[in-house]
Amino acid sequence: MPELPEVETVRRGLQPTMEGARLARLELRRADLRFPLPHGLSEALEGRTITSVGRRAKYLTMHFDGGAVLISHLGMSGSYRVEDGADAAIPGMFHHERSKLSAHDHIVFHLTRRDGTTRRVTYNDPRRFGFVDLDRARTLYRNRFLRDLGIEPTGNALDGARLAAMLAGKAAPLKAALLDQRLIAGLGNIYVCEALWRARLSPRRKAGTLVTRDGRPTPRCHALADAVRAVIADAIAAGGSSLRDYVHADGSLGYFQHSFAVYGREGEPCPHEACEGTIRRIVQSGRSTFYCPACQR
Ligand SMILES: [Zn+2]
Repeated sequence: MPELPEVETVRRGLQPTMEGARLARLELRRADLRFPLPHGLSEALEGRTITSVGRRAKYLTMHFDGGAVLISHLGMSGSYRVEDGADAAIPGMFHHERSKLSAHDHIVFHLTRRDGTTRRVTYNDPRRFGFVDLDRARTLYRNRFLRDLGIEPTGNALDGARLAAMLAGKAAPLKAALLDQRLIAGLGNIYVCEALWRARLSPRRKAGTLVTRDGRPTPRCHALADAVRAVIADAIAAGGSSLRDYVHADGSLGYFQHSFAVYGREGEPCPHEACEGTIRRIVQSGRSTFYCPACQR
């Protein structure tokens, strides 16, 4: 399942192709993905220019002139592919042989760019857990998918003080609190495990123990906020240190194999220097947690 860093990588991969381009035609090859496609989707967007490609948690937000916003969630297996629409000489990374999975190409954006060249951006999703929604820029904050999302784990929004305010008084384990999308948006199972390991905090520790009686962040709380931001920033950086890296040879965007310190490493030695612990797997709220019982307290 794509996590936030993958979605951000997809966004960065789409940005240079889509921003400033006019959507000449929106080709819908089926009436539904996880949900039915919004009514009048093509009519609302065709002929419009894409002004920006944004992201909120794991949602891509494509803003069009006139105020329409297309929201896209990749579900379990969704991906975007960028192709040149004509036989124009385009750098090789955009060339793509029609894959055998073309049966799973569900939405095709036919784009005309400012320089007159055309591109196709294709949404492919074999399992169809992905979905799209249509909204307006001015009502986006109350969109049903976005309105309850917490703060982003990227940028400077998340710090010790903000985290303390979220965790104060909570008896839930840290792992569960960090996975709560109403607190921090887009933080998934893998990156919660990695952040807790970096901050040397046990996933079973009560969330409220990172906050002092008068509601201030403890040093551990600051460390955890730093670790969450760092883990996400590092994963985004691993997705592509340059634009070229965001687009794979087959034109697909944004999936990369990232190496993790603890996730999926049950039985291996803890990578923290001077720690002699062994990574353990436990199940919390039905999901695997990987951690080092020796150094994570
Ligand atoms: Zn350890």
